[in-house]
Amino acid sequence: MTGAVRALERCALLARLSSLPGGIERVTLSAEHAAANALVAGWLREAGLEARQDPAGNLIGRREGRAAGLPALVLGSHLDTVPDAGAFDGMLGVLLAIEVADRLRGADLPFALEVVGFTDEEGTRFGTALAGSRAFAGQWDPAWAERVDADGVALRDAAAAFGLDPDRIADAGRRADELAGYLEVHIEQGPQLEDAGRALAAVSAIAAARRFELTVTGRAGHAGGTPYDRRRDALVGASEIVLAVERIARETGTIGTVGRIAVEPGGVNVVPGAARLSLDLRAETDARRDEVWQRIDGFAREVCGRRGLRWEAAETYRADAAVCDPRLRAAVEAGIRTTGDADPFVLWSRAGHDGLAVSAATPFAMLFLRCGNGGVSHAPEETVTAGDVAVALDAFEAAVRAVAASGPEPR
Ligand SMILES: [Zn+2]
Repeated sequence: MTGAVRALERCALLARLSSLPGGIERVTLSAEHAAANALVAGWLREAGLEARQDPAGNLIGRREGRAAGLPALVLGSHLDTVPDAGAFDGMLGVLLAIEVADRLRGADLPFALEVVGFTDEEGTRFGTALAGSRAFAGQWDPAWAERVDADGVALRDAAAAFGLDPDRIADAGRRADELAGYLEVHIEQGPQLEDAGRALAAVSAIAAARRFELTVTGRAGHAGGTPYDRRRDALVGASEIVLAVERIARETGTIGTVGRIAVEPGGVNVVPGAARLSLDLRAETDARRDEVWQRIDGFAREVCGRRGLRWEAAETYRADAAVCDPRLRAAVEAGIRTTGDADPFVLWSRAGHDGLAVSAATPFAMLFLRCGNGGVSHAPEETVTAGDVAVALDAFEAAVRAVAASGPEPR
């Protein structure tokens, strides 16, 4: 059996460790999380790695390099899922990392090799996205232990039931001098590779993002009795802004999404007095993201001025882009080239990934793999081909060899 076929078979085995009958759902600190860690730990040992679970519930396999105690090149992804998930988001990256470790048995490496299956990348249970990788990178926030899931169970209690010490999760943090970098393979979760007819891409950066709660305030009035020239209709103003978000985002190669809108008072015969909107912005760079926001904000002020409305914007979230390390990205591109693709495709990641968190501790780079069905992900229809997985595995192995050949990391 080839490594790619074995990785796909293991994806199918992991898919069975689910709390959702007939589907896949595996959230952090659950019985399924424990079962997945136990199963994958066995595969890590088969590949010649020493396996352990860290104080955050991440699963880590390690094999020493040419000398004991060298900084580790970390390969990995996550083992948790969204509700009703696909079988490849996260898991495939962990399993391909194990295959690379298997292929590199006996290789003379100037770093230790670690394979990590992160927990809680998705934040499904407690709303703590990237919690496992943040803990690994020394960014655990003790306040997260007090978060509560939908059943009223605190993370602290779930961690204790899982066998962890909820007051020592931060001990999962790794020092920068223990690490030589982080490489991750992940499905693209979008259609760009499929549309381009390409199997693989090197990732340039993980999106910069900002989120806002926007409020447009006008004046409620009787739908029959309020003439148009007297109306201060918050929803019509908000609608102009929603359309502008799409137009400006398209013009700038960024992504803007209004995912939620609520209108007050919400009567069928009442002119809307207020509209509250969410806004999610993503861009390849911080500067582009901020420039798009300035344009949207400027347009909204103009609309609201013209229509007699009030405009308020409250920022609720901001994450700067995590730019892939040039040296590691060059190794990923060299890896792709060894598969016969002379001019590697480059994409910025519209979605967040563990690398975003890990980059606080060590440089990172990513390899994207085409997913089919129009790039659908976070859904049971998520799919990959065995051929693409085989090519991704070859590229991943070659990328690790390229990192090894590029010599000691400049510090
Ligand atoms: Zn993922």
